[in-house]
Amino acid sequence: MINQDLYTAAKLLQEGQVVAFPTETIYGLGARFDDPHAIKKIYEIKGRPSNNPLIAHIATLEQLSLLIRDTPTPEQYRLMESFWPGPLTLIFAKHPNVPDEVCGGLDTIAIRMPDHPIARDLIHETGVPLVAPSANPSGCPSPTHHQHVNDYFGEDLYCLNGGFTKVGLESTILIFKDNQPIILRPGAISREEIESILQQRVSLSQPTHTPLSPGMMYRHYAPEAQLHIAQTPAEIQDVLDQYQHQPYPLGLLLSDQTIHALTIPLGVQIKSLGDKSNLEEISRNIFQTFIAFDHTEVEHIWTEEFPQTGLGLAIMDKLRRASQKE
Ligand code: AMP
Ligand code: MG
Repeated sequence: MINQDLYTAAKLLQEGQVVAFPTETIYGLGARFDDPHAIKKIYEIKGRPSNNPLIAHIATLEQLSLLIRDTPTPEQYRLMESFWPGPLTLIFAKHPNVPDEVCGGLDTIAIRMPDHPIARDLIHETGVPLVAPSANPSGCPSPTHHQHVNDYFGEDLYCLNGGFTKVGLESTILIFKDNQPIILRPGAISREEIESILQQRVSLSQPTHTPLSPGMMYRHYAPEAQLHIAQTPAEIQDVLDQYQHQPYPLGLLLSDQTIHALTIPLGVQIKSLGDKSNLEEISRNIFQTFIAFDHTEVEHIWTEEFPQTGLGLAIMDKLRRASQKE
């Protein structure tokens, strides 16, 4: 049984409106894949550069044929079998009927099958794949709760409520170039998990002037305060010891273990990322703590390094991008 909100959202999409909805990663801002006018609205609402393409979301494997030109390779099938529905986005040559607005001028298309009942019911009810970037203004932290979406865009934007998302980080984006798998964006599925399915080494895309994934050119996910990444707790302790001389409000965004290891003066705002040994918990907390800091007067936030294995790769990618100067 489809509930009334879902029915309303599907109807709005069918009529060419933009609707926000939860996925297991973060909230998306969706439109029909075949409606260039609605897709342009997504770019306008987000203030997103038009060369930064969108991810298409499908609910069934049959819907792939609407979006891709060639039959998927055996490697792509293995990944789909292992990780779909779930937070892995694959890049394919695009079907000629897919509007250029979806792909930001590229001849490829990014696709995933979300693992969230609301997202999948919405796609089913609308009847076509939905293209959806994250439901945040370009550059801001990604929304992991419907309240974040409402705060960003107001009540006029229809948003299906799903509470907090389970994963809290974006999907991993993977492309095959000359049969070599390359991660374009580290995310919720780890490099090691993909390597174990493919039985092949997976490389990471290196920053170049013409990146394979245009979205990776931009500063991302950043809180309003300047984020600094400390290499050791001692580095943070030094900052704290000098804190009384500093005029600026200071925030700490750290694991429980690091918080307990420090002597923290009164007046410093502390937010926990969770247990350092539980990278799923740390991932889930990154964006919501960024957003929570945006509701404070803090101007500088100190955070810490995490090991770059498993989910740690995506965690450090988010923290580094957020810490880049404009
Ligand atoms: P977002 O929807 O905000 O998670 O951003 C989507 C990401 O997918 C951006 O970083 C895009 O650059 C990337 N992307 C979308 N389509 C493609 C594509 N055809 N090739 C490479 N990257 C893509
Ligand atoms: Mg985004």
